[in-house]
Amino acid sequence: MIKHVINKYFKLRHMMRRDMGGSKNSYNDVFKLIKEHHNWFKRSLPLIASENVPSPAVREAIMSDFGNRYAEGWPGERVYAGCVYIDQVELICMSLAKRLFEAEFADVRPVSGVCANLAIYAAFAEPSDIMLTLSIPSGGHISHGRKENAGTAGFVRGLSIETFVFDKEEMNIDVDASKKKIEQLIKGGKKPKMAMFGGSLFLFPHPVKELADYLKNHGVFICYDAAHVAGLIAGKKFQDPLREGAEVMTMSTHKTLFGPQGGIILSSEKHAEMIKKSTFPGNTSNHHLHHVAGKAIAFAEMLEFGTEYAEQVIKNAKMFAQSLYNAGLNVLAEKNGFTKSHQIVVDVSEYGDGGTVEESLEKAGIICNRQLLPGDIKAGRHYMHPGGIRFGTSEITRLGMKESDMKELAVFIKRVIIGKEEPSKVSDDVADYREAFQKIHYAFDNDVEAYDYIQIIKS
Ligand SMILES: *Cc1c(COP(=O)(O)O)cnc(C)c1O
Repeated sequence: MIKHVINKYFKLRHMMRRDMGGSKNSYNDVFKLIKEHHNWFKRSLPLIASENVPSPAVREAIMSDFGNRYAEGWPGERVYAGCVYIDQVELICMSLAKRLFEAEFADVRPVSGVCANLAIYAAFAEPSDIMLTLSIPSGGHISHGRKENAGTAGFVRGLSIETFVFDKEEMNIDVDASKKKIEQLIKGGKKPKMAMFGGSLFLFPHPVKELADYLKNHGVFICYDAAHVAGLIAGKKFQDPLREGAEVMTMSTHKTLFGPQGGIILSSEKHAEMIKKSTFPGNTSNHHLHHVAGKAIAFAEMLEFGTEYAEQVIKNAKMFAQSLYNAGLNVLAEKNGFTKSHQIVVDVSEYGDGGTVEESLEKAGIICNRQLLPGDIKAGRHYMHPGGIRFGTSEITRLGMKESDMKELAVFIKRVIIGKEEPSKVSDDVADYREAFQKIHYAFDNDVEAYDYIQIIKS
């Protein structure tokens, strides 16, 4: 691990010295490095659960001049001129978002999932209010976290954090134990104001329906963070939080939902005014208009292809998990069929830790991320060297992979983790395998390949 970091550091120092040769060297270096990145991704297996690859159409939209403009406020009530076409695109984007998620209201302006969450905290809670969430090792996101950990909710909005009780065997929220905990909190004068469902380690639908009446009877405002699973919800293959009792749903637009990087907020009409002012001026000034255009394109693609896509993502995840398990790896949640989402989580503590395994896999062209597991903190592990790794199947599904490919992928991973084969040997085989998967699926257009570098300048 350390050696890897030191190597990277020396490479950077070397480049910084080159920089003294003149700014044109750095200018050229940047393009050279971007092109190398593209070539690397053409040859690798992109398995990071929070990532995806957008269609050529989304890429075209986000390269447009929209990215150089300002349009603060709401379409038709802007603070700047020059928004004639931008306003129309934003209205289309909102209308597509509302159709996709069957929501009365959509705010497509948050520039990321974290900004969307922050807008919700600002709109529906006050500093020192208590929010119930998952702890980070149980799957909560840092934007739901405590002040001590510089989590957004605590650090930026001053919320106090209490956690749901998590069942490690079921890999889900324990409904009865969580109710008991809430009762005790209320008795102790610590009544939660807000509950946040959803998370980053997210294998099974959360019990929103099971807890919604209980929470509402205690006056708790229910939010659902769909950052990871938005594309599965859009495809109607996971759960339906807005029908199950969530008042608002936030999300990133680039994880299972295959748009540009960004965020959105959905709710019923009654919360619209509060959310609108919290987004602007509360939590954004300019809202990255090229990404609004990209979101609109991705939502249109999702409306057309989302069901088929989400179904294949989940089928692939199940088959991938089963194949890794058959290969001898400790895949979590076996008793519940491993997963009902795009994610697979593997405890690799018997082979070192998530950090070192992640690094070996990266050298083999298999790109995934280390994962803190429930129980890791108690076992003395931390986020740099956690017990697990996490895989996601959304991007490889977008590249056209099916269940039979999952069996092959599991063999590559077994060769690295269990077989301890030289990663560079495995990376050659990975690159050969990847050759057949260069086009984007579930899109209206795919003339340009998924990782083709789009050149504008002539030199
Ligand atoms: C990724 C993630 C976010 C943050 O999204 P960004 O778009 O990266 O800001 C928020 N919540 C959860 C649960 C996430 O997994």
